[in-house]
Amino acid sequence: MLRAIYPGSFDPVTYGHLDIIRRSSRIMDELIVGVLNNKAKMPLFSVEERVKMLEEVTKELPNVRIIPFDGLLVDFASRMEADVVIRGLRAITDFEYELQMSQTNHKLEPNVETMFLTTSIEYSYLSSTTVREIAAFGGDLSQFVPEAVAVELKKKMNAKRRV
Ligand code: ADP
Repeated sequence: MLRAIYPGSFDPVTYGHLDIIRRSSRIMDELIVGVLNNKAKMPLFSVEERVKMLEEVTKELPNVRIIPFDGLLVDFASRMEADVVIRGLRAITDFEYELQMSQTNHKLEPNVETMFLTTSIEYSYLSSTTVREIAAFGGDLSQFVPEAVAVELKKKMNAKRRV
């Protein structure tokens, strides 16, 4: 029984994240998508909203669960009794940070291994930051996020404009 955690902010979830979720859920018996509730960051979507969107877009994947967490990733992984942490690598620029993270986590918790999946080429440019920027200027989001997420982004941007 192999259980993995795929952690991130997912603010919001994109087709790039979904690609990693689909591919790793085929390798693992169970995949837990860990949604980081980082109080130091000011996310666009609350952790509850991010969890809800992830649940919606992964509802066809029976071995995927969405769980919010805060604190150290290795503590969350131990609590969940996970064997593996999954991370996506988009470009060489991700590498240095990811290497440091995985080595630190391995020092903290030697029983948890980090595995990297490289991005599918068509999503290698895609990030939640870009998606939020496109949404802020009312651009077409259909190539970047599932319809359900695009709807939530539009609602959020309209609500922000009213403030
Ligand atoms: P973080 O807050 O740690 O940057 P993100 O929500 O941005 O987390 O991303 C979570 C994980 O998904 C990271 O491993 C990141 O490299 C990966 N990821 C993000 N965008 C893509 C993409 N377009 N293709 C593949 N992996 C991605």
